[in-house]
Amino acid sequence: MKPSNWTTLSAPHGQIDVPTGLFIGGEWRSASNSNTFDVQNPADETVIAAVADASLEDALEALEVATRVQNEWGTTTTRHRSNILRRAYDLLLERKEDIAWVMSLEMGKPLAEARGEVQVSADYIQWYSEQVPQQRGGYSDAPNGGYKIITTHQPVGPSYLVTPWNFPLSMGARKAGAALAAGCTVLIKPAALTPLSTHMFVQLLHDAGVPQGALNLITTSSASGQSKALMSRPTLRKVSFTGSTAVGTTLLKQAADHVMTSSMELGGNGPFIVLSDADPVEAAAGAAVAKFRNAGQVCVAANRIIVEKSVAPAFREAFLAKVAQLKVGPGTEDGVDVGPLVDGNQRNNVQKLLEDAIDQGAVVIAGGEAAPGAGYFFAPTVVANASLDSALATKEIFGPIASIYEAESDDQAIEAANNTPFGLVSYVYTRDITKAIQAAERLESGMVGINRPVVADPAAPFGGIKASGLGKEGGHSGIEEYQIEKYIAVTV
Ligand code: NAD
Repeated sequence: MKPSNWTTLSAPHGQIDVPTGLFIGGEWRSASNSNTFDVQNPADETVIAAVADASLEDALEALEVATRVQNEWGTTTTRHRSNILRRAYDLLLERKEDIAWVMSLEMGKPLAEARGEVQVSADYIQWYSEQVPQQRGGYSDAPNGGYKIITTHQPVGPSYLVTPWNFPLSMGARKAGAALAAGCTVLIKPAALTPLSTHMFVQLLHDAGVPQGALNLITTSSASGQSKALMSRPTLRKVSFTGSTAVGTTLLKQAADHVMTSSMELGGNGPFIVLSDADPVEAAAGAAVAKFRNAGQVCVAANRIIVEKSVAPAFREAFLAKVAQLKVGPGTEDGVDVGPLVDGNQRNNVQKLLEDAIDQGAVVIAGGEAAPGAGYFFAPTVVANASLDSALATKEIFGPIASIYEAESDDQAIEAANNTPFGLVSYVYTRDITKAIQAAERLESGMVGINRPVVADPAAPFGGIKASGLGKEGGHSGIEEYQIEKYIAVTV
């Protein structure tokens, strides 16, 4: 029988049972104070679930359990952990339709994107499952002789994974996959706006064989108080956070007290550069993806589209034609390209950024308004003549507003692109390989996409520099974020 802290959501393909409780020590349960908070569908503002609102005691108990089982989980064989993750990969593909539907309901993203996110999450889990049994240590002679240098990987310990609402499954999957593969126990905390995808993911990992206590989930409407208490405990050995730079720096300060290992995937202000020799139609198609995916609520979104003057008219025409084709609507409806923003705050922020830019001389050349009625919809918008000093250019827009800037030369475009404290991703469109490589080397960002609008790949190190973060997810180093490299000196 289904326990009381589950709910059932209806989808066209059937009923979906979704846990809504806390997951501590291998069991779903209500918050100890019985509190809950509501989760809303941003497309119509209806409440779709009430989720357990963990007390401080619940959170600390989750950490205690994770600490208790750390040694047992951390000393399982890499093959054992790999097999569990491989089963989780299979289950993600089996449950793709259910998870995608629930993600689209709670977050608003189009179903096709939600399915893509489940696939990418599965791919990350698969990557870590393949990687962990293949990790190597080292064995070498000390240069001056007399002893041997042995190095090996060990799990860093109980890990606190804090995730944002814009990619409610994949941000958790790429952290939990690496942490569990490395042998760390996990305490995962999703964003209060979109917790249900993580609930389903946690149940799935449990079904795949992650043992009791190795994986714990807490949901809370009061992230700051709870995180502060958890971060003050020396038993917590790792924090991995994806979210805003403001919260990331708070967590880094808290982590400093115990010299806790930290990985930070923070905000971005991605430049999308179109050089004079680029194919304007291809560049426009890429810019539409890099800008309007997830209604622009993407850390790696094209925040500033910087186009060399000679190609600007052709690019603008092709881009406007692309934008005119975008269908706005609830993410769960067929054929929708742009869903609602996640909530009213997000829509107000976007509206305000646009109004400020218009006050400073920007011109709206497409869209420009929030849609009336229920749901947090905002029309796909294109803006010209905004100042590179306006908040629209210096802040993360996190909404469906594309702002096009013109540059006199490739040098000027790159200089403008680097003029930000952020450094997550940059995009460059050009047909000239020399210009492409030179630009990629000069751009101050952790990742660069050349002639492509999407860069994330499980086999590649995802991460930013400057105010966009510390550390990598995926690639060969992603798993090492959850490990210590132990050095053993042996006299022989
Ligand atoms: P946010 O920083 O407000 O929240 C992220 C998470 O932190 C949520 O789970 C939230 O509950 C929690 N949180 C909030 N305040 C906290 C505190 N004081 N202590 C501990 N936890 C706290 O970010 P958001 O609005 O959910 O997400 C959008 C941001 O995430 C954007 O800046 C975006 O660029 C960034 N992001 C970055 C990446 C990346 O890989 N670099 C990926 C996705 C999103």
